[in-house]
Amino acid sequence: MSPELLEEGTRARLEHEQREAQKDSSGGSASFGRVVRALEPDFAHGVALYLDDVTVSFDGFKALNALSLMIRVGELRAIIGPNGAGKTTMMDVITGKTRPDAGSVSFGQNIDLLRLRENQIAEAGIGRKFQKPTVFEQLSVFENLELALKGERGVRAALWHALRGEQRDRIDEVMTQTHLADQASRQAGLLSHGQKQWLEIGMLLMQDPKLLLLDEPVAGMTDEETERTAELFLSLEGKHSLVVVEHDMKFVDQITEGRKTVTVLHEGSVLAEGLLSAVQADERVVEVYLGR
Ligand code: ADP
Ligand code: MG
Repeated sequence: MSPELLEEGTRARLEHEQREAQKDSSGGSASFGRVVRALEPDFAHGVALYLDDVTVSFDGFKALNALSLMIRVGELRAIIGPNGAGKTTMMDVITGKTRPDAGSVSFGQNIDLLRLRENQIAEAGIGRKFQKPTVFEQLSVFENLELALKGERGVRAALWHALRGEQRDRIDEVMTQTHLADQASRQAGLLSHGQKQWLEIGMLLMQDPKLLLLDEPVAGMTDEETERTAELFLSLEGKHSLVVVEHDMKFVDQITEGRKTVTVLHEGSVLAEGLLSAVQADERVVEVYLGR
C-alpha cells in the first residue's frame, strides 16, 4: 500500500473512532465494552483551543457570558481579570467539569470538547493544574512522577511494576525541568509550597499534554520561586500550548515578555486583549480592577 493510502486509512480510522467516542459520551449508542482510544486533535490549522460564544449560568447568573477565545498551537496565553470574572469557570468548561448552556468549545479543529467526558478530555491531551497542589505527600518526588506516568493501575501496582529505561529518563528530564532533580528521594510532604506546585506541574508533564491549563500557579510562592516558575513556563512554550490564569502582574510580565497577548476577562467575557502594557493602560480595565 502506498504511504498516502496508509495515511488516508489512518485518518479514516481516527475519524471513525472519534465519532464512536462521541456517541459513547453522549450515551447515544451501545459501546459493547470496547475501549475508547485516545482522540487525536488535528492542529493543522494552528488552532489549539477555540471557545465560541460560551455561556454558563448558575441560577440565572451568567458566570460566562458569550465568551469567545482562541489559543494558537504552542502559544502561552496569560489570562487576567478581577475575582469572579469567570476564569476558573472557563477552565471548568474546557475540562468538562461544567457544561455550558450555549456555545461551542473545540480542541484542534476536530474535537468537540462538549461531547467528551472529563477523562476523555484529559486523554485527548488537556492537562489542568488546580490552585491547590494535590501531590501524594507520603511518596517521594520520584514516586509521584512515576505514578503520574502509569496512574491508572493504582498506587501499589504502579510502584511494583518495573520502569523501563526511557521512562526513567523521562522522569529525570521532568525533575530537571521543574527544578526538583536534587529532591528525587525526598518525601513530597516535606517540600516547600513552591516545590509542591512544581511537582504537580511535573506530574502533568509526565502525561505529555498538548494543552496545559494553569490556575493561579504562583499564588503563595516566594519571589524566587515565582521567577523560576516563569522560566519553567517559558521553557514549555512552543512544545505545549499554555493557558495561565494569574493575578501576579510581575509574573504575567515575565511570561509574556512584552510581546505576547494578555486576555482580560470581566463578567464572563473578554473585556480587553493585547500586550500587558496596553491592557494595563486601558481605562475600562483600570476601572474594573479599581471598582472592587
Ligand atoms: P474567577 O476564577 O475569575 O475568580 P469564577 O469562575 O470562580 O471566577 O466565578 C465566576 C462567578 O461564578 C463568580 O461570581 C462565582 O461566584 C460564580 N460561580 C462559580 N461557580 C459557581 C457554582 N458552582 N455555583 C454558583 N455560582 C458559581
Ligand atoms: Mg478562580
